[in-house]
Amino acid sequence: MDTDPKQSSCNSSIPTVMLPVDSLLLIFIRYLQLMKFIPWSSPISICDQSIEIPEYNEIDGSSQIISKRKKFKKKQQKLSIEPGLCGLTNIGNTCFMNSAIQCLSNIPQLTKWAKKQQLSNHEQTVTQAYTSLIKSIWSGKNSYISPHDIKKRVSQHAPIFCDYAQKDSHEFMNSLLNALHSEFIENDSSKEQSSIVTNLFCIQTQSRVTCLHCGMCDSLEEITYCLPLPFENESTVTLRRLLNDFLKEELLDGPYYCSNCQDLRSAKQKTNLCQPLPPVIIVQLKRFTFDETNDKLNTFVEYPIVDWNVDDSNNSLYDLVAVSMHVGNLQGGHYTTYARLNGLDQWYHFNDLNIEPVHNTHCLVNRNAYVLVYLKKN
Ligand SMILES: [Zn+2]
Repeated sequence: MDTDPKQSSCNSSIPTVMLPVDSLLLIFIRYLQLMKFIPWSSPISICDQSIEIPEYNEIDGSSQIISKRKKFKKKQQKLSIEPGLCGLTNIGNTCFMNSAIQCLSNIPQLTKWAKKQQLSNHEQTVTQAYTSLIKSIWSGKNSYISPHDIKKRVSQHAPIFCDYAQKDSHEFMNSLLNALHSEFIENDSSKEQSSIVTNLFCIQTQSRVTCLHCGMCDSLEEITYCLPLPFENESTVTLRRLLNDFLKEELLDGPYYCSNCQDLRSAKQKTNLCQPLPPVIIVQLKRFTFDETNDKLNTFVEYPIVDWNVDDSNNSLYDLVAVSMHVGNLQGGHYTTYARLNGLDQWYHFNDLNIEPVHNTHCLVNRNAYVLVYLKKN
């Protein structure tokens, strides 16, 4: 159990042992968990009460006590809160969601857009929930908030997020962006089909398949909000090589029906990134195999913090702005986020309620990196 020695030494009226009511409640909760009447991951709502509530440690399923919320809140109120430095309560295995939100919150253009939206609280949409969450995070009035509403609204678009089991931060980010886009299109009369999401994140890829018999070429254009980069289980690889592999021409695994030959043929395929590249590039490092082994690849991916030259032209330099990190494996783990506050120079580590400044940027590149968010320079 973590206690804060400064707090207990400077306030002699507070005994060093917990209040009986708190202790009893905690013992009761632990008893229920031990007897398996409630799961370790049960979604106990953590709200602003003067009682102590266990905070989840998702790696080993044990619970630990965090300092009294009342005391915590009082302490935080005395300090001025830097806008954007707002923790997010873990409402039951929701570190994946908190990590995704802190990544998106530190994309300056998206946050600027969210702050400008004027939506009534009666609107039960993802857009309303997201923009009001971002306004609270950036108000400078909250040291932490509870992201109940955004979880509820995104779950209505993507029911996979309805329960309180561990999920994937990239999948949540993608579902949230898809929901923001589709709600915009539903309400937009201009029929332009472009939203803040397409304007910021839309990557257009062109996939060309060439028949090895007659040389006929077929092309397919697709849009995505993220570059999914697969890799093998190896000790180290660079982001540059992963992207080159993704764009490399290769033989198709199975036969391909060529409309010119009107027969099944061998074919080769090549993917290209279309210009212009978007202002924000989200990269998913595909560590999770989702096959029968359910393994997670712990390959160290070396990626640049500044000046990622995506396509070797000087027009496409990108700087890292956030990383969603995952420790553990597919059965149990924990997500956190490293982010450059509002795209400026100071990095922070966002771990649910806790936020720590990062003094050495070397720690930003490690084996736990799962989703990288890059921002185009200028
Ligand atoms: Zn052919």
